[in-house]
Amino acid sequence: MKKLAIFFLLALVPASVISLAQTRQDRLTGHVYYFASDSLRGRAAGSEDAAKAAGYIVREFESIGLKPFYDDWYMPFTKKGVRYKNVVAVIEGNDPDLKDQYIVVGAHYDHLGVKNDKIYNGADDNASGTASVIELARILSARRDQLKRTVVIAAFDAEELGLFGSTALAEKMIDEDHLDVRLMMSVDMVGWYKATGTLTLMGVATIKDGKKVLESDKINLKFVNFEWSPVTATDTEGFAKRHVPTLAVSTGLKSPYHKPEDDAELIDYEGLDKVTDYLSDLTLSVASDGGFAASGKVAGKHRGTLPVFEAGVSLAWGNTWFKFPDAAFEGKTGFTYGAGLSFQLNFGSERRWGLRAEPTFLRASARYPDESDLYSSTLKYKGNEILIPAQLVFQRQDGAFYLGFGGYYDHHLKTSLAVDQTIKTGGYGVSGVFGIRAAGIGMEYMWLWPTSPFFDGKSAPSVRQGTGLFKLYKYF
Ligand SMILES: [Zn+2]
Repeated sequence: MKKLAIFFLLALVPASVISLAQTRQDRLTGHVYYFASDSLRGRAAGSEDAAKAAGYIVREFESIGLKPFYDDWYMPFTKKGVRYKNVVAVIEGNDPDLKDQYIVVGAHYDHLGVKNDKIYNGADDNASGTASVIELARILSARRDQLKRTVVIAAFDAEELGLFGSTALAEKMIDEDHLDVRLMMSVDMVGWYKATGTLTLMGVATIKDGKKVLESDKINLKFVNFEWSPVTATDTEGFAKRHVPTLAVSTGLKSPYHKPEDDAELIDYEGLDKVTDYLSDLTLSVASDGGFAASGKVAGKHRGTLPVFEAGVSLAWGNTWFKFPDAAFEGKTGFTYGAGLSFQLNFGSERRWGLRAEPTFLRASARYPDESDLYSSTLKYKGNEILIPAQLVFQRQDGAFYLGFGGYYDHHLKTSLAVDQTIKTGGYGVSGVFGIRAAGIGMEYMWLWPTSPFFDGKSAPSVRQGTGLFKLYKYF
C-alpha cells in the first residue's frame, strides 16, 4: 500500500520537476524539433503548416509574458494576392528618453515546404534562428527592468519567397509609423556553430565602434563590415535599405542549405545555446547603452541608388597583341599590366546608366613576327602607354552587374620595337566592358579593339594593336 502511495505521489510530481530541470538547451532543442518535424511539412510561407508554426510562436511568446506589438499577435500582410503573417512581440524600454527608440530582433520561421515529394524541414534554415529568438525573448523578458530602449521581437513569414515578412515590418515601422529603429538584427541559420567554429556578424561597420560593441569572450566571432553579396540577402535588407544599422547573424553555410537533409538531428544544440546566450547579452547591452549609435555608413548594395559621381583607383593586367589584317600570320600576345584612375557619372531613372572614363598607365608588351623568319622568330614590342577608355554602361540599380560599350584613345609614351617603322603616337578604337561590383569594389574585363593603324606612314605594313584587360578597382 505504502509503495503504491509513493508511486502515485511521484506520478503527480514529474511535470513540474521536468519543467524545473529543463535547461535552455533543452528548450532550444524542443523548438527546433517541433519546427523541423515532418508534421509541419517544411513550413511553406502562407500555408496551414506555416500557420501552425506561427501559432506555436504565439503560445511561446504568451507563456514568456511578452506583449503583442500590434493589436494582435499576428501582423498580417498581403503580397501578390497571398496573405501571410508575421508574429511580432514587444518588450517596452524603461528610459523616458530612450524607450521610443527600437531594437528589432527577428528570425524567419518559414521554409521551402514540400518539393518533389520531399519535405524540406529547414532545421538550420531557420528553425534554429526562430528557436534562438524565442529563448532570447525569454531572457530579455526576465531582465526587462534593465532595458532602456524598446525591443521588438519578430518572427517573419515569407523570407524564402523574397524577404516579404521583414520588408513588410520595415515598411510598417519606418515608412508608415515613422518609428525610430536603432538596430535590426536578423538571426538566420545559427545551428552549425561546431562545424564552422564561428558566429559571423555581417554589418559591423554600420554600428559606431562596431567591433567594440560586439566583441565577447564567450563565443568565437567573425566580423564582416558590410553585407556585400549581390546575390544573397536576408531579413536585414528592408531595414538596411532604410539606412538602419543591421546585423546579419549566422553560423555560416556548412549545413545542407536548401536541401531536404537540413534536419533537426544535425543541429549543434550546445552551439545554438551559446549563440542565444551571446545574442541576448548583445541585445541587452545595445538596448540599455545610451551611447549605442549608428556609424552612418551603409553598405554599397543598400544605398539604393549609386551616387551621381564616383572616383576610384584601379589595377589592370592582361594581354596585348598585334593583328595583321592583310597577312596570314598572327602575332603572339604579351603580358600587359598597369594602374589607373576610374571616374563614373551615373544618371537616368534609378541611375541605370553611367558614363565612365578610366585613364590607365600601362606597361604593354606583345610579340611581333620577324619579317626574315615569319614563323619561328619573333620580335618583342614594349611600350609605356596611357590608355583612356570611355564607355556608356548599363547597370543594375545597385551596380552589381554592368555592361558597357564605347571607345578608347591610346597614347604611346615610349616604345621599343626592332623594326624600321615609326609607331604612331596615338591609337584609337572601340571598347567593350562587363563587370560586377559590390561595396565599391569591382572586377571587370575590358576589351579594346583597334580601328587605327599602329604604324605611321602610307607605305607601312598594316598592323593593329589590341588589348584585353582584367581590372580590379575600388571606388571611394
Ligand atoms: Zn534563411
